[in-house]
Amino acid sequence: MVKKLFPETQQRLFERVFVCKNCKKKIRANPAHVRAGKVVCPKCKRKDFRPKRRPA
Ligand SMILES: [Zn+2]
Repeated sequence: MVKKLFPETQQRLFERVFVCKNCKKKIRANPAHVRAGKVVCPKCKRKDFRPKRRPA
């Protein structure tokens, strides 16, 4: 029996993932922290992130 992920669950998983605008590195972080500029890309040390979005 295959269990599907709830759309809400899936959304929550992807909403926490951000992509560095500079080097495309994917990181998982609290959206509030990203918006507050507390999250720095481990690869290029920049703070420009966009949320990762999965097309349905
Ligand atoms: Zn980066």
